[in-house]
Amino acid sequence: MRSREAMRFVQIRKQFRFEAAHVLPHHPGKCSRLHGHSYRLDVAIEGGLQSDGPARGMVLDFDEISAVVKPAVIERLDHSSLNDLMPNPTAEHIAQWIWRELSGKLAGLAEIVVWETQTACAVVRAGDPETR
Ligand SMILES: [Zn+2]
Repeated sequence: MRSREAMRFVQIRKQFRFEAAHVLPHHPGKCSRLHGHSYRLDVAIEGGLQSDGPARGMVLDFDEISAVVKPAVIERLDHSSLNDLMPNPTAEHIAQWIWRELSGKLAGLAEIVVWETQTACAVVRAGDPETR
């Protein structure tokens, strides 16, 4: 019975993209000059599978994640200057900013991953000191 319950608990992820400019004022190298990135955002939600209704068998309808993330985050960050929103927009600070915008709006929010390049990302997780 216990293992059956465990199998009903799943993490789902949805990816988003936004283009934005930033300056890292404390960086000793080229990142102190104005430049942009094509950021990728992964939003992870954990929870039990719903047992009835239109989302039966789902943690949360992927469309519902988009309906929250797009207005709260993507539409605000896309084609923006991130320094207008935070003084030192590192990938780490962007991930923390996104966490604060989404926590309370997405039940089961488990992880925010901000990919600044194809190989470099910052992760904020539920339970981290920053998210408590
Ligand atoms: Zn950069």
